[in-house]
Amino acid sequence: MNNRPADFNKGLMIVVSGPAGSGKGTVLSHLLKDDHYRYSVSATTRQPRPGEINGINYHFLTREEFINRLSRDEMLEYTEYCGNYYGTPQKEAIEMLEQGYNLILEIEVEGAANVKRKYPDAVTIMLLPPSGAVLEARLRGRGTETEEVIRERMAQARNEVAQLKNYDYVVYNYDGQAAEAAEIIRHIVYSERFSTAHNPDIAKTYFA
Ligand code: 5GP
Repeated sequence: MNNRPADFNKGLMIVVSGPAGSGKGTVLSHLLKDDHYRYSVSATTRQPRPGEINGINYHFLTREEFINRLSRDEMLEYTEYCGNYYGTPQKEAIEMLEQGYNLILEIEVEGAANVKRKYPDAVTIMLLPPSGAVLEARLRGRGTETEEVIRERMAQARNEVAQLKNYDYVVYNYDGQAAEAAEIIRHIVYSERFSTAHNPDIAKTYFA
C-alpha cells in the first residue's frame, strides 16, 4: 500500500487529434520519452505503409478480424475513416490506465467525440499548426502529394477544426518546436490530475 489518494494512482486518458500536417507523430514521440505515458496502439484494416510495424504503429487486421473483434465488444471506440476501420483495443487501454500510465489515444474527431461521451473524464486535445496557411505550407513542403490530395487534406482539416469546440484544449505546434508542444501537453495533463473532476471520490474516502 502506498500513501497516495486512490484516485491519483490511475492514469489519465488523453485523446489527441490533429489534421495531417499538424506534426502529431513528432510531438507524441517527444511526449512518449516520458515513462508516465503510453501510446494506445489502434487496430486498423488499412494496409501498412512502408516502415510501419504490426503491433507498434497499428495492429493490422483484415476486415473480418476487425468485425469479429467488434462483435465481441473488444473495442473501446471505433470509426470508419476513408474506407477503413480504425479502433482502440479496450483491454489494453484499461490495463494501462489501471497501471497508472497516462494513455494517449491518437484518433480522429468522430472517435474523440465517442470517447468523450463514454469517458467524460478523458482529456481531449487538438493539435494544430499555428494557422491554416502554415498547415498548407507544410503539406506542400512535403513535395510528395498531388494538388488534388493537398486540396482534400485542406478540406478535411477545415472539418476537423470545425470540431474544435468539442475539445478541452488546443495546442499549437509551431515550426521546429514539437518538443515545446509536447511540454505544453505535459503541463495540461499535470494540471488535470489535480482537477476535482479527476478526483471524484475524495470526499467519500478521505476520512475512511
Ligand atoms: P492514418 O491512416 O493516417 O494512420 O490515420 C487516419 C486517421 O485515423 C488519423 O486521423 C488517426 O488519428 C485516426 N485513427 C487512428 N487510429 C484510430 C482509432 O483507433 N480510432 C479512431 N477513431 N481513429 C483513429
